[in-house]
Amino acid sequence: MFRLTRPPVIFWMGLPALCLLAVAVAFLPARWGLLFWPMSAWIVLAIGYRADGLWNLLAVVACNLLLAGLSLIRPLPGFLIQLAPANVALVLAVAFSAHQNLELQKRWVRKRLALIEKERALHRHQQATGQENKSLEETLARLAGLYELTKQLLFTLDRNEAVRNLSDILIATFPRAAFRLCFISLDPAASSVLERVLELRQAGAREIAVQSSDRWLLDRMLPHGAVWSAWPMVGVADTATLDIPPDLKTATAFPLRMEDRLHGFLVVKDLMPEDLDRCGILVSQFALAVRRIRLYERVQELAIRDGLTGLLVRRHFVMRLQEEAARAARQELPLSFLMVDIDRFKEINDRHGHLVGDAVLRELAALLRTQVRDVDLLGRYGGEEFGLGLPEADTAQAQMAAGRIRQAVQNAGFRAYDEHLSITVSIGVSALPRDAADATELIEHADAAMYKAKMEGRNRVCVFGV
Ligand code: GH3
Ligand code: MG
Ligand code: MG
Repeated sequence: MFRLTRPPVIFWMGLPALCLLAVAVAFLPARWGLLFWPMSAWIVLAIGYRADGLWNLLAVVACNLLLAGLSLIRPLPGFLIQLAPANVALVLAVAFSAHQNLELQKRWVRKRLALIEKERALHRHQQATGQENKSLEETLARLAGLYELTKQLLFTLDRNEAVRNLSDILIATFPRAAFRLCFISLDPAASSVLERVLELRQAGAREIAVQSSDRWLLDRMLPHGAVWSAWPMVGVADTATLDIPPDLKTATAFPLRMEDRLHGFLVVKDLMPEDLDRCGILVSQFALAVRRIRLYERVQELAIRDGLTGLLVRRHFVMRLQEEAARAARQELPLSFLMVDIDRFKEINDRHGHLVGDAVLRELAALLRTQVRDVDLLGRYGGEEFGLGLPEADTAQAQMAAGRIRQAVQNAGFRAYDEHLSITVSIGVSALPRDAADATELIEHADAAMYKAKMEGRNRVCVFGV
């Protein structure tokens, strides 16, 4: 119950005081001896207040031994002896209270220790929360950066610029990786083959030959359209297999998916596994950007192309012809224009129906396409009238081209549904700068020449002013 620990300082202070008092009692008149008891009680109390229980008892024993010693030197008054039990009781009470005090102290120490432990746990928790906050902040910063990058990807409506943007962003974000962008042929009739492979480099995108490893990847990506990686990673469709081509040993491929169709993929070499997510987000944003650009181009195409024949619509055709006329004037080069009109087309419609008439228009447009150069402009000018702009061709060259076209139409047999038809065309020719000052006049004069060809019996070429 009691442990003998190092005595408290007050114990050592109390003992000399007690000895002094005892000496004083021994030599003072007997009645001063009365002071001994309250003083010794006070000293024991003082000691007991701070001391361990055993030291208290030792103090009591010391007091009583002193008393016994004193009584040997000189007889003590009887009442002093009678008070001895009360003294002992008092000292025991003090010892008990000291013991209680000690217990309280121990409990307090235990509480304090528990509090310290709690404080430490709290500190550890705070540290962990701080770490978590830091990593969250880092993630947030990365995401904010990624958001800015993806915004850049969606800015443009030009596909070359979109590829350039993607290239810049990828190289800046993953400087140690190498990138190859593979596009699949979009021709719905053809089976999926790689149409174009671009190597993305610091200096920009460069078209390179399709490699066998690209075709190997295409075979793997087509069925799933999911991310492929040579690293065995969670959530990746095709993990490491034995027959991976050597140059794909550290590669990851991200699909370019648009409307549930695989349009291509990005091959990334030496991408760290922790960068997989970010790279995937960039690629999906790029796919979105490409889809947006394609839609935009499609709308543009619809606005300038005639739905039936696929030729330029009149408004766009005239605009392009004006541009060519201005260029021809600037460079002092000739520009010719042919107005091609089907002879007695109304009769075809009347006899075979409008559907057959449409099919004939479509086929004639296809035939005309085969008769012109890449630089020539071909448009559907009216219902069954076609315009042809021939840059750098003078009247003679244009007349020759018109003759060739007239002959080709006459020779061609047109198949429309079950009907086999043949048609002829009348063509009016005019040329810049000989017959007109601008594009509008050029068209008017070719139209007049065409009218003249009709007047002269159709299926012929007439040159304006001749
Ligand atoms: P010609 O030019 O030899 O004087 O006789 P034509 O019968 O060709 O001349 P006209 O200008 O009178 O008739 C043109 C016809 O072309 C009238 C119209 O029914 C037909 N046409 C115009 N656009 C289309 C079209 O998109 N589809 C069809 N099927 N017919 C069209
Ligand atoms: Mg007509
Ligand atoms: Mg006609």
